[in-house]
Amino acid sequence: MFYFIALLVTTIGADNIQTSYKNYKVFRIPIDSEEQLSYLQYFNESGYQYWRYPTQGSHAADLMVAPDKIKPFEEYMKTTQISYTEYIKDVQSLIDKEMSSRGRRCLNMTDLPLDQYHDLGEIYRWLDNLPSRFPGKVELIVAGHSFEGRDIRGVKLSFRPNNSAVVMEGGIHAREWIGPATIITLVEWFLNSNQAATRKVADSYDWYMFPVINPDGYEYTHTNDRLWRKTRSTSGTTNCVGADLNRNWDIHWDYEGDYIFYHPRDPCNDVYRGSEPFSEVEARTFADYLKSVKDKIYFYISLHSYGQYLFFPYTSRREHQRNYNRSYTVGSKAIEAVQRSSENSTHYRLGTSTDVLNLTLGGTSGDWVQDALQVPYSFTFELRPSDAWAQQMTGLIPGFILPANQIGINSEEVLIALTAMLEEASKWNETDISKNE
Ligand SMILES: [Zn+2]
Repeated sequence: MFYFIALLVTTIGADNIQTSYKNYKVFRIPIDSEEQLSYLQYFNESGYQYWRYPTQGSHAADLMVAPDKIKPFEEYMKTTQISYTEYIKDVQSLIDKEMSSRGRRCLNMTDLPLDQYHDLGEIYRWLDNLPSRFPGKVELIVAGHSFEGRDIRGVKLSFRPNNSAVVMEGGIHAREWIGPATIITLVEWFLNSNQAATRKVADSYDWYMFPVINPDGYEYTHTNDRLWRKTRSTSGTTNCVGADLNRNWDIHWDYEGDYIFYHPRDPCNDVYRGSEPFSEVEARTFADYLKSVKDKIYFYISLHSYGQYLFFPYTSRREHQRNYNRSYTVGSKAIEAVQRSSENSTHYRLGTSTDVLNLTLGGTSGDWVQDALQVPYSFTFELRPSDAWAQQMTGLIPGFILPANQIGINSEEVLIALTAMLEEASKWNETDISKNE
């Protein structure tokens, strides 16, 4: 009954059938009360899709509404006296703008323009060329595969022997393009930069960089549906395709939470957890890869969008983990550094998702690496854009369809955050970490 899949209009594109979001709007709805929350459950039906679910008191909900549902939406909001603002007038026009801002594709390009988004083929060709561009510094990695048979590919950058490792994972949610773009940018900076601060952080760790760990989904966002989130797996038991790759890890997997908007057991829901833990081959094979390098992993970083949050485990329970204080201290250095460095005082909120958003959910990669692999630090970024109400007035809140001109500043902020985190973490000695205080 909780079908979030919008009633979609499709048009024939040049090569594929592209889902059109023409005249779909996104409305922003601030939440003030429990009563409003329960009213907003009404939109868990066809023709409506939450880009961000409502949670009480912490952030506004973003709801995408199909053209034929706009009148019913407005009437319902009037009846229930819930206020809202239109924040995206026409989703398709944002998508069109994004597509037209992409430069001419060059099939044999070796270095990617960093101010654009790229499809999977371009990203993998770029990865393939890195070892010959930077001999001795780059090792190609295949860290698993997808339901449709694509490799999950990445690189290890190493500038010195005996470094501990930072693992970065992006693109677990297909439509969150800023994650892969940030990882690509950081890889290029780490390989090319002569700046002392960047050199220091790059040289001091081995960087295991995986731009797209949901390759089928990511490809699908380029060929068929820009707003696809899940994997592309099929099964004999449901007509709905895919599972949420960040609800599928074997950690509190079937945890439904106490959250009324959250329906991970529904195969048609955008947050479907899969049929069993690690039912998705991407999560399963990538987890196996992580196990094979687990003794080296010092930091695990997962990139998502959007809202500007820095989360750390647990997402799946209300209790704080044993090393909560250490993670909080390290994370707070990151968000302070980002705020200090930016002209606009870019603000990230820090904490567990349970504390910050009143949102508990199971099966995430960040919780799994923390618990199963006992990595010292696991952080999840929800990248630009912000959900700050003030910024809405500037019109700079395009949700998942973040303009490509934001890739640079976003990547700078992540680099600043990482640098501050790693520096703070280095003050905690090995004994403190193994004690897990
Ligand atoms: Zn995400």
